[in-house]
Amino acid sequence: MLDFVRRRDEMVATQLAARGIVDPRVLAAMREVPHEAFVPDRLSEVAYEDGPLPIGEGQTISQPYMVALMIQAAAVAPGDRVLDIGTGSGYAAAVLSRIAGRVYGIERLGGLVAAAQERFARLGYDRIALREGDGTLGWPEEAPFDAILVAAGGPVVPEPLKRQVTVGGRIVLPVGPSRCTQTLVRLRRTGEESFEQTDLGLCAFVPLRGAHGWPEPHPSGPGRDAVPPAAGGEGRG
Ligand code: SAH
Repeated sequence: MLDFVRRRDEMVATQLAARGIVDPRVLAAMREVPHEAFVPDRLSEVAYEDGPLPIGEGQTISQPYMVALMIQAAAVAPGDRVLDIGTGSGYAAAVLSRIAGRVYGIERLGGLVAAAQERFARLGYDRIALREGDGTLGWPEEAPFDAILVAAGGPVVPEPLKRQVTVGGRIVLPVGPSRCTQTLVRLRRTGEESFEQTDLGLCAFVPLRGAHGWPEPHPSGPGRDAVPPAAGGEGRG
């Protein structure tokens, strides 16, 4: 039996606290949520390594540090309504749900939605509503949100998301000119039409598809989703 509790404590100390994650709520939530339950069984042995891991369908579960950095940058607080786009395995949504009031997740791949829903039910994460769809359109029926996190990189900040965050609310997402390198950006809505932007550093996420993302890849052509190459010093989604 692997000692996951010890590994999780170690991950929080060496991968998060030692690298500038200071938000006590983020550290506590990440000490609590069992990362190993969100990776495929055959990978539970490496669940606490410092990088992204494949979760099937060409997608990845983000590096724990990246999940922590995004939630800290979004200043998620108790009672917040949070939109999580690119829910994938469900790990980031689970961590968010230990801090926020309610989490709304959107994932475009039905197989991942079903697997995440099964995990949420099994582990008792009952503050998450998850649906299949194009997250670049947001979730207008549940808007506005105090924070919006996007776990896939697109060419621009999707316009619908800017409309669906409260004044004072935060959007944290990777944006970049290519499908495999991006800058992690935080936008804070300061007024009806105004946003304040902070760049948080380079990162590498899987591509954001959809109406305000990259075009769908040809099934056998170049540009298929791939696990991005590990790059020293960069955060990885
Ligand atoms: N937060 C996830 C990371 C998953 S990787 C986790 O903790 O596991 C990013 C996910 O974004 C992938 O599952 C991919 O299918 C999804 N995705 C890409 N474009 C999307 C879109 N337009 N709408 C919803 N999900 C999208």
